[in-house]
Amino acid sequence: MLAGATVKTTCPYCGVGCGVIARQNDDGGVEISGDPDHPANFGRLCSKGSALGDTFSLDDRLLTPRIHGQMSDWNEAFDRVARGFSETVRAHGPDSVALYVSGQLLTEDYYVANKLMKGFIGSANIDTNSRLCMASSVAGHKRAFGSDTVPGAYKDLEEADLVVLVGSNFAWCHPVLFQRLAAAKQDRGTRVIVIDPRETATTELADMHLPLDPGSDVALFNGLLGYLAETGAIDHAFVSNHTEGFDIALESAKAMSLSGVAEATSLDPIRLTQFYRAFSETKKVVTVYSQGVNQSSVGTDKVNAIINCHLATGRIGREGMGPFSITGQPNAMGGREVGGLANQLAAHMSFEDPDHRDIVARFWEAPNLAAAPGLKAVDLFDRVESGQIKALWVMATNPAASMPDADRVSAAIKACPFVVVSDVTDTTKTASLAHVLLPAMGWGEKDGTVTNSERRISRQRSFVAGAGSSKPDWWIISQVALRMGFTGFSYEKPAEIFREHAALSAFENDGTRDFDLSGLKSLSDIGYEELTPVQWPVSEKAEQGTQRLFDQGGFFTKTKKANFVSVVHKPPASNTSTQYPLVLNSGRIRDQWHTMTRTGQSARLSSHIAEPFVEVHPDDALSFGIAVGDVVRVASARGSILAKASVTARQSRGTVFVPIHWTAPYAPCAEVDALVGSNTDPISGQPELKYTPVRIERAVMRWHAFLVSDCKPDLASFPYWALARTKSGWRAEVAGDDPISSFPEGLKGLLSNGQSAEVETFFYEDGLGGGSRMQCNAGKLTHAVFWSPKPVEVARAWLVDQLGREQDLKSRYALLAGRAGADQPDKGAIVCSCFEVGANQITRAMRDGADSIDAVGVALNAGTNCGSCRSEIGRLLVVTEMKEAV
Ligand code: SF4
Repeated sequence: MLAGATVKTTCPYCGVGCGVIARQNDDGGVEISGDPDHPANFGRLCSKGSALGDTFSLDDRLLTPRIHGQMSDWNEAFDRVARGFSETVRAHGPDSVALYVSGQLLTEDYYVANKLMKGFIGSANIDTNSRLCMASSVAGHKRAFGSDTVPGAYKDLEEADLVVLVGSNFAWCHPVLFQRLAAAKQDRGTRVIVIDPRETATTELADMHLPLDPGSDVALFNGLLGYLAETGAIDHAFVSNHTEGFDIALESAKAMSLSGVAEATSLDPIRLTQFYRAFSETKKVVTVYSQGVNQSSVGTDKVNAIINCHLATGRIGREGMGPFSITGQPNAMGGREVGGLANQLAAHMSFEDPDHRDIVARFWEAPNLAAAPGLKAVDLFDRVESGQIKALWVMATNPAASMPDADRVSAAIKACPFVVVSDVTDTTKTASLAHVLLPAMGWGEKDGTVTNSERRISRQRSFVAGAGSSKPDWWIISQVALRMGFTGFSYEKPAEIFREHAALSAFENDGTRDFDLSGLKSLSDIGYEELTPVQWPVSEKAEQGTQRLFDQGGFFTKTKKANFVSVVHKPPASNTSTQYPLVLNSGRIRDQWHTMTRTGQSARLSSHIAEPFVEVHPDDALSFGIAVGDVVRVASARGSILAKASVTARQSRGTVFVPIHWTAPYAPCAEVDALVGSNTDPISGQPELKYTPVRIERAVMRWHAFLVSDCKPDLASFPYWALARTKSGWRAEVAGDDPISSFPEGLKGLLSNGQSAEVETFFYEDGLGGGSRMQCNAGKLTHAVFWSPKPVEVARAWLVDQLGREQDLKSRYALLAGRAGADQPDKGAIVCSCFEVGANQITRAMRDGADSIDAVGVALNAGTNCGSCRSEIGRLLVVTEMKEAV
């Protein structure tokens, strides 16, 4: 791309699928802005999307193929992979090999991977990390609608009078949709009800928050179905014309009285009735649900309990109405379309239907189409562990850190005879276990399509050259397929693959299947290049795509009627006990993505929350002897992790929350999935990531330290450490369990030995075991270390800003004290990443009269760009007002 040129593409993070404009600037960098024409975001981006330009560093990139750690070339690497898979299949059969892929892949990559495995190798052992994200929604859709169809569109959030958010921290996990909802609330008074055990940034927008017990959603929505029937809110015409099984589902729902629901959910019956009345009396209702619903041993039942209420009221597929599953990943939906889940065939076809198997086999001219579903993620890695899977290819994901029971999965991968990993980086735990590493192109380099949560297909376009010898995933998979002797993989460009994918969706379809891209099967290369975002189905009848489905029935079951599914409340698969008395919930934070492979490269994203934390209710903190800033050991029956204590009444009693992002290389001690067991939903196979019995205890750390450094420190020897990038280097939190009387021994190596005449070291010790040491080179700060027997209290944001700056005598005193002078007040922890505005600045502005979120925006710009921080500003406003009132 030439300087000044722009390319329209799509954000690679969450399932909102925002349109992005990338512009090459004069100094070779990339400027990012929201695409005003993209119907997902109309120009908005959240903090992660806005910071995409910060993530093009070649640090940590995998640039060439490697075999057993040695640099190789593509020829040798392809031969090695093809031979490894072919020999394993010959010796042990097709089910002895597996692919584990990712919602980060583009649809074209996914399509080719699925075709190779299910059509040609002859096994359905291909599953995806989307199994961990939304498999329960897929299963729930198929049970109710006969197809995996999301009925509505994002626009419905703006047209609804009531939006119910279930198990979704929408503000942090799908920020642009949250902003669209917040704008609708402001413009037309949309009511918002949040159903979530936690109080989160999302609950700031809520008119009502129902903090139900984890896992009790089926009881809640069954209670709602019963209430709807009692209060005459059932749409009998829709139910009788377009559905089946209503009476049985209602009977199940009515088995639990209101007091029974209150007991199962731990919700006040009056609040329950208020929620039920609001739903019953409001025609235009959208129920949005996400991982809090899906990641459960009863996730599919939860989905159907929600869908039952919408079918009963006929509120589906109409303006401002419907159940709405929001996916976590940018292309989870594309993966579903091509059959990236082990239990699906391509183009939403099913293994259970012999006609579908026949259609796919004939279309692909597949010699060896898999006859039955393959292994879902948890079972797949169990078979790797038991040795039945002997060759594994992992693409664009990190199961050794992100699967439940991650340490066991990691050991299983390590013992697997042949492991191939394609990725953009070699720093993940899974990459470190690979026999063959293949460098894949990343965002901005690769070309293809993705589908967002509203069925909208958008182009991801390349605008920078691939790093090193990296290649697109579809090309890598195709080359291996050709060397395994298979025909049908001579693709030269992604447009060819997309046309084939569209043609398969249309092949002998005739309106019998929901996924239909017949209108795009003859797309020219130019048409593909210029493809504008469109919602499937796209057919002759619907050339411009389809906004909504099912308002007039027309479901994809044999009878064309939707199924009510009779569901009953069941407790989660694991129980708390005296040994593990608390429930661990895990999830995302605002400014990081998955295991931080990309977002960890951005200094501004790393400044929002710079280390792993465990949120604990104050009563539990008191019971377990934990104070703010302590390093806490969180232990389950599977293992233990360390994270910093965040004590907050926003967390429900009896539960703790830990974010999913910190793993190697940023904080290997905090890999939360090492705690999670492998209980799964029996229908969807989705793991129960939101309910793990744990205990917490204060980890005995004899000293704590905070440091900034202009070079990456090696912290591997410390029991607790968390590393984050800054604009001029690195910052780290460290803690050790060895006794100290002065500067901790292990930290001495971080400072230069001071041989150069330009290097000056200065230090301070407080006589109580704490102190600080600084180094300047040619007058500029290169290192600062603060240590203390207690959690270190210094002005972190200010110290980060001092790195690389000229320091005079006066500022050196301030540095040693770790305190900003009155002339340079400390910003505090960063709240607004776009304008790098900290909590202290916002609080000061509020004390100076900024009495609303907008007024803070006027004073400091905070919250005026991406808007992701507006709920945190709102919370600071409440806290400041409360303090002022005391
Ligand atoms: Fe990307 Fe944010 Fe949009 Fe999600 S909401 S697609 S992370 S810009």
